[in-house]
Amino acid sequence: MAEGAPVHIAEEGSSGPSRRRGAPGRGTTVRATRQGDAVCAALAETDAFTSAQDLHARLRAQGTAVGLTTVYRHLQVLVDRGEVDMLRRDDGETVYRRCATEAHHHHLVCRSCGRTVEIAGPEIEQWTEAVAAAEGFVDVAHTVEIYGTCSSCALTAESSA
Ligand SMILES: [Zn+2]
Ligand SMILES: [Zn+2]
Ligand SMILES: [Zn+2]
Repeated sequence: MAEGAPVHIAEEGSSGPSRRRGAPGRGTTVRATRQGDAVCAALAETDAFTSAQDLHARLRAQGTAVGLTTVYRHLQVLVDRGEVDMLRRDDGETVYRRCATEAHHHHLVCRSCGRTVEIAGPEIEQWTEAVAAAEGFVDVAHTVEIYGTCSSCALTAESSA
């Protein structure tokens, strides 16, 4: 994960030099708002990876008037800041989770129950660095998630077979 300047969210009305240098092509400014706080709080309620749609539905159910686009935008900011993990489930849906650690890590995800184990992968870190360096790439980042069936789901499947 890229380290360095954290993404700073401008408060409503502030004019501080909080624009992140560079970051071209994003085009959207997300402000710290009650909506942003609500998105954070809704994510903190669960340990499971949650889709933006589910999060949006939960917020609406709680009476928070927030658009799906806004939810996406706040999630993206949290991801950029390394506070939230984003991964693409193997059914193609993008899901989010507030992880136990902010340090770079990977996930072992159960396809049937969603159980997630956070894993370190020193071999992966070395391998990606070496592969990228060999091709002259710098500023390298990667995402590695491992999907499978957890031991209890495997047991259930076996006993019901
Ligand atoms: Zn994680
Ligand atoms: Zn499972
Ligand atoms: Zn890694």
